[in-house]
Amino acid sequence: MSLLIKGGRVIDPASGVDARLDVLTKDGKIAAMDRRLEAPGTRTVDASGLVVAPGFVDIHVHLREPGIEHAETIESGTRAAAAGGFTAVCCMPNTIPVNDSAQVTGFIVDRAQRTGSVRVHPIGAISKGSGGKRLADIGAMRAAGAVAISDDGLPVMDSGLMRRAMKYAASFGLTVIDHCEDLNLSAGGDIHEGVQSMRLGLGGIPGCSEDVMVARDLILAADTGARVHIAHISTAASIEMVRQAKRLGLPVTAEVTPHHFALTDEHLPGYDSNYKMRPPLRANADIEAAIAGLLDGTIDCIATDHAPHTGHTKMQEFERCPFGVTGLETALALALKVLYHTGRTSLGKLVSLFTDSASRCLGLPHGRIRRGGPADLTLFSTERGWSYDVSRTLSKSRNSPFDGWEFRGGPVATIVGGEIVWTAEAGIRAV
Ligand SMILES: [Zn+2]
Repeated sequence: MSLLIKGGRVIDPASGVDARLDVLTKDGKIAAMDRRLEAPGTRTVDASGLVVAPGFVDIHVHLREPGIEHAETIESGTRAAAAGGFTAVCCMPNTIPVNDSAQVTGFIVDRAQRTGSVRVHPIGAISKGSGGKRLADIGAMRAAGAVAISDDGLPVMDSGLMRRAMKYAASFGLTVIDHCEDLNLSAGGDIHEGVQSMRLGLGGIPGCSEDVMVARDLILAADTGARVHIAHISTAASIEMVRQAKRLGLPVTAEVTPHHFALTDEHLPGYDSNYKMRPPLRANADIEAAIAGLLDGTIDCIATDHAPHTGHTKMQEFERCPFGVTGLETALALALKVLYHTGRTSLGKLVSLFTDSASRCLGLPHGRIRRGGPADLTLFSTERGWSYDVSRTLSKSRNSPFDGWEFRGGPVATIVGGEIVWTAEAGIRAV
């Protein structure tokens, strides 16, 4: 099977390419890339007016399978990923059971091969059951396909355990993805501790609950030499610590979610649980720090932390409903809105935050367009107007704070291994 993608603006930050080029795929791989290609009889995609980028990589999603299939499955979650322009996702281990063994890792790899629209890389747990007491079987999970370890959703409160996890991870060449939160400081909190939490009478989660853990784990990274990736960074102080750590040469990377650079706690319309996530939406100074961090390379990538919950569980009172929002389908549009259409950054830099730079955080083989490499491509528009209607989401859950938002630009087609797995016009699996 071949595809000829004609007339698009090819942006491949890893190789410095930004030019109007045709791209020919063959047998799932990039066969040729040139100013004008002809391939009679080959299915042609008109990409004029569109950007042709390496397939987007989201290194932080929750696919909820096994165990929480009413909220999401690998099938539905990867459909939503494809609709967001993502060709590869890394899924967090807080399923039921927790992905803390080679068996669960293997199950996810197998399910993804059978039912996934995009590539899926499992992330193994740091501790058994993510209980924070005993290390999970890290070597066996790696052998079964785990690309990193994390207890995401929960922090590793025990510093000794975290240190040992980092030593193990370093010996296996795995990155530790770090959910930074001191539960003694955040306990009972629902939203960012500030004027809003006081006004609404909700428990506050202070910024320092994140900062003390970032500080601890940067110290442990220096001690162990492990590669540490700070998940969903959300405070100005944490971002500044990562900046300093990078200056000192520590192998640390960081991600920010679209909701953390697009919304503040001021946007919270009362007790709407679609705005409840961990870490919480922070203050304006934190958003500005996140954007500055993305622009100067302190923050390496944008990751969605797509966290589906069914309407049923999200409908409970604010204090009782679970944390987390969906995000795969709106990530690119939010990045275009906040970073590109405001003139803050170039398209090349923006593409890099979703591709090669994201891939590098975990040492994944994705995020670039090269001859002979897999034909994973994201076609997107910077201009097409659309609005997000969450009732039409491909995810099984609808807990997005961006329902009804008007956007300028977004994904148009997603190609995995030379196959069009999603297009904006025809929905999933239009061929
Ligand atoms: Zn998460």
